[in-house]
Amino acid sequence: MNENEIDTAVLCPRCKGAGESFAHINRGSKPHTWENIPCFCCNGFKLISKEKLGWIQEGKRLKKYKDEREITLRDFALECGMRLGELSEYLAGEAKMPDNLRELINKE
Ligand SMILES: [Zn+2]
Repeated sequence: MNENEIDTAVLCPRCKGAGESFAHINRGSKPHTWENIPCFCCNGFKLISKEKLGWIQEGKRLKKYKDEREITLRDFALECGMRLGELSEYLAGEAKMPDNLRELINKE
């Protein structure tokens, strides 16, 4: 995050400004543990840019759209013509979604 982005930053909705989240750590053959790890949404910065907040909100609307139609993530990805991993990023608000997805949620 650079200085310009901090000017327009908002509290991370995922960790609510804690900067970390309690997560299950898979250590393979060693005992698994629960630990506080840096929040993956804000990377521990506690803040995210307004732009990213917009992505998250759009992602939630896209998830609602998908859930209402009761189709699997895989089928939805096929329908949208993208890889599952790519679609998951948009659903999680990790990336700016392309126009064809935005049109779906704006039709609602
Ligand atoms: Zn966070």
